[in-house]
Amino acid sequence: MPQAFQEWIQAQLDELKAQGLYRKLRILGGEQRPRAVIDGREVINLSSNNYLGLTTHPQLRAAAKAAIDRYGVGAGAVRTIIGTMAIHEELERKLAAFKHTEATLVLQSGFTANQAVLGTILGEGDLVISDELNHASIIDGIRLTKAARKVYRHNDMDDLERVLEQTRGEQYRKIVIVTDGVFSMDGDIAPLPRIAELAQAYGAVTMVDDAHASGVLGPHGSGTVHHFGLERVWDISVGTLSKAIGAVGGYAACSLALRELMEHRARPFLFSTAHPPSVAATCIAAVELLQSAEGQQLIDRLWENTRFFKRGLQELGFDTGISETPITPIIIGEGAKAMQFSDRLFARGVFAQGIAYPTVPRDKGRVRTIVTAAHSRADLEEALNVFETVGREMALI
Ligand SMILES: *Cc1c(COP(=O)(O)O)cnc(C)c1O
Repeated sequence: MPQAFQEWIQAQLDELKAQGLYRKLRILGGEQRPRAVIDGREVINLSSNNYLGLTTHPQLRAAAKAAIDRYGVGAGAVRTIIGTMAIHEELERKLAAFKHTEATLVLQSGFTANQAVLGTILGEGDLVISDELNHASIIDGIRLTKAARKVYRHNDMDDLERVLEQTRGEQYRKIVIVTDGVFSMDGDIAPLPRIAELAQAYGAVTMVDDAHASGVLGPHGSGTVHHFGLERVWDISVGTLSKAIGAVGGYAACSLALRELMEHRARPFLFSTAHPPSVAATCIAAVELLQSAEGQQLIDRLWENTRFFKRGLQELGFDTGISETPITPIIIGEGAKAMQFSDRLFARGVFAQGIAYPTVPRDKGRVRTIVTAAHSRADLEEALNVFETVGREMALI
């Protein structure tokens, strides 16, 4: 390596340390469970996206193992060459039935699913209008296109209308409005009914990224579009298979024609290898489970736990912001203090990630919690006790 290059890397790392943004990865010792071994000690885990506890579900494990025995461990090629197996198409049919759309297209991750959709539908002469708090994968997906872009204030429908009104005098081939369904830092839900109305009035296409809503909101966890009963008018949903579904992957749920176009244009589809068959099999088992009585029980449990834990934090006097979902932030203020709060919780046996600027505004540093269906009441009571102890120690409550 050239000396100057080594020095540049070191300078970047030193700068992160000077800004207090440097962090070490924590290591999960065993399985992803509500009580997990993290950095060598057992803690109550309030930081996973494993909403329904499916990462360790026996049926999903069995499906993955059976697929390995039957099909091997890899797809061997991108799907346009010869990487598409019957099991990939089966997953897409099952997901389309689950989402009540004509078609779905599965990608390697939620991250690449956003790139795939945005890269296919946006080009020169188009306009994309994006919520200011949209996920990084939407922002990057937009950056890879030549479309013009405008941003509206978070969940502010008057501001979205203002931006749409500006377009009256401008010429675009098409306009796409894109939003997260559930926002990952505050746990609030996008007002899709109003977005759909405005889109209709201005002839815009609607797209939602339901990563934190898949398996969580709507009948059987089918997402925000169903939560609001908008399946007839909403155009495109992106979902992830990496959070509540418990494995890895992402998908677009859309019309058959858009799926066909993506098969020809979406670069992550064209130039990156398909999932191993075991991942497809795991996700099929998960989608089937979601639609069963057990799936509904898990979702009900998730929401019971959410209500219990959120109420507990509020009764202790913590500020849980505007959350409406299992994502519950505890807003602390100063970033360094939020990090210290997280460290002290960990020392007492609770893992809840501290989050500071630039991920959230400077005065909105927080600890973020996500409960799952797999947490027992005892887990949550113990966690609340620890929050109380550390909160008092630090004079936060
Ligand atoms: C987690 C997340 C993604 C990325 O999904 P992966 O499947 O982990 O790549 C995309 N969008 C949003 C809103 C997310 O929260």
